[in-house]
This record gives sequence, C-alpha cells and structure tokens, in this order.
Amino acid sequence: MELGSGESRVGRRPILLKFNEKARPVIAIKLAPGRIVGAVTDMDAHLLCQQERLLADSETADEIVEALIQMTHALLAEAKVDIDDVLGIGMVLPGIVDPKTGVSVWPSFFNWINVPMKHILEDRLGVQVFIDNDANAAALAEKWYGAGRDYADLVCVTVGAGVGAGLIVGGRLYRGGASGAGEIGHMTIDEEGPQCICGNRGCLEAMVSDKALVRQAVERLAENPGSMVLQLAEGDKSKITREIIVEAAKAGDEMAQALIWQAGTRIGTGLSNLVNILNPEAIIVGGEAAAQAGDLLLEPIKRTVKKRAFAVLSEKTEILRAKLPDGWLVGAAILVLQEFFGLPIYREEDGRKSINLASLV
Ligand SMILES: [Zn+2]
Repeated sequence: MELGSGESRVGRRPILLKFNEKARPVIAIKLAPGRIVGAVTDMDAHLLCQQERLLADSETADEIVEALIQMTHALLAEAKVDIDDVLGIGMVLPGIVDPKTGVSVWPSFFNWINVPMKHILEDRLGVQVFIDNDANAAALAEKWYGAGRDYADLVCVTVGAGVGAGLIVGGRLYRGGASGAGEIGHMTIDEEGPQCICGNRGCLEAMVSDKALVRQAVERLAENPGSMVLQLAEGDKSKITREIIVEAAKAGDEMAQALIWQAGTRIGTGLSNLVNILNPEAIIVGGEAAAQAGDLLLEPIKRTVKKRAFAVLSEKTEILRAKLPDGWLVGAAILVLQEFFGLPIYREEDGRKSINLASLV
C-alpha cells in the first residue's frame, strides 16, 4: 500500500510502501471436542470476528464437515466478505494430522481415521485449505506473536480437554517423520495408570485432562464430602467440570488445590523428560485449563521440572504462560500466512485457486 512520496536529496523521490494487512481476509477454524470455533482474520492474524458452534458427542465425519462449511459461510456473512477474496482457510484439529496430504489421520476425540479433510473442504468451498495439529498451531502462534518470539527452540504445551505440544526447533515447527511429533499427552507417566483413549495405560492426558480431573474429583469426594467442588456443582456430581474444580481451588478449597497440584506435578514430570531430550530454551504452557488455573498449575510444573530435569538444563529453561488467549485461531491463520509469505508462493495445483501474489496487485 503506497503511503505517498518520501524525501530524497538526489534523483526521484521514493514512494513509501506499507504492508496492507487488510488486503485479503483469512479464515481460521479450530475443531475441538464438542465445539467448532472460527474467525475471520486479516493478514496480520488479528481476529476480526469470531463464532462458536457446539457439537454433539456422536457427530460423524460427514456431519462435522457440514458444520465446518456452515461455519465458514456464517463467518463470511458476518464479516461481509466474498469467498473469492479469501486468501485461504487454516483449520486445526486434535491428534495426528498430515499437513502435506491434508489428511486427518487420527483425530483422537473423534471417531474416524484418515479423512482427507483438506480436499473435501477445498472441493466444497473452492478456496485453498491448510490443516494441521492444534498444538502445532498454538506453538506457531506463540512463536510469531506471543511468548515465544525471542526463542528459536521451544516447546508449547497445551492443557485442557487434551494435552498436546508443538515443538519449534531452530525457529521452525518440528513435525517428525509422519507429522506426529509432539504428542506429549500420550507420554507414559504411570505404567499401571488409567486407560487412555489411545489404547495405552497411564498416558499423561489420561491423568490430567479435563475429564481426568473431573473423575479424580468425584473419587475424592467420598473422603471430602464438604468440598466446595460439590457445592459449586449444586450437590450433583454429574455437574462437576474442570471450570468448577479450578474455581474451587482459587477460592481455597484444599481438595481442588491438591488435584491441580497433582496435575501440575504430572505435567512437570512429562516436561522434565522433554527438557532432557530437547533442551528447549523455553516451555510455554497454554490451553484452556492452563489459562484458567494460571499459577496454580504453573507453580507445580516449574517445581517438578526443576526437581527432575538435569539442573544444568532446567536452570536455562524459561517456563512461561502462553500469551495469546486465541492462540488456536491465530495459529490456524498462520498456516495460511506462512504459505503466503514463504516461498514458493506461486502455485497452481489441479487448477485450484491458490495463493498468488500477483492476484493482489
Ligand atoms: Zn494415550
């Protein structure tokens, strides 16, 4: 975007240029257990409008695809954007995702395998779609715009309905051979521990996820019938949520505090292993549970990493809270933006609409 002419002592006066982040909108979508959230962003990943749609537990891949398409059209309508002007759609989801083929290989919470999500959405919407694992997107968001900007080697761990991590190595996302790197939630913490959705026992996720916390709270209520957790759930154990447990802990309830401390200690054990393996400069802790619990969760994580990892490494590992409350969506937008700003940017695949610099001029 031209800003006018600048000063020059010799020759022609220069034309001053500024990056016009409003040039083209981007659509960012996160598929999570029980809900879809979506946003329209500009080319600097600012969220311009945002929507949420709740999902039933039983929805099939076909039903979820329909919901994603409806969400896209609803976002376009709210932002008054024509689909032909959209730079691209970034979509993030849990589990193993292959961003090269655009296949949702194993989405952990959802009941399908190998759904070619990118191609289905591109065929239906006529816009280029980029998909990736949600924790990878959160790591990209923190690296581009959040707490990770100053670090080349970092781990961004997300704690909430699941536990995931995105690994940034040498400034770039490390995906691994089959794009499955960072599944810290399925690191074994206790060989005899509870059954996990992945089929193994004692995975970190099976011990600290929202569902695990609720299960542990219900178990402990037998010995702590006076806990505030039960009062906040109006005396109904089936109404207990992670939000209630954290609220009770913040209000001083000892049982709730012990549960969160235990979760932090377990996450810290998993992260200690990562510190010794990867020696990151920083660990950024995000996700809904971490955002809500704050220092109640961060403190036991820090203490455990300090206690368990090599002291010479953990001393030099910063453990920080994530900065971006909408990191998932910012990261989803970055999937599109990194393709646009990276090389090669001129692409035509199968005659599909592609991100093309020339189209902006
Ligand atoms: Zn598992």
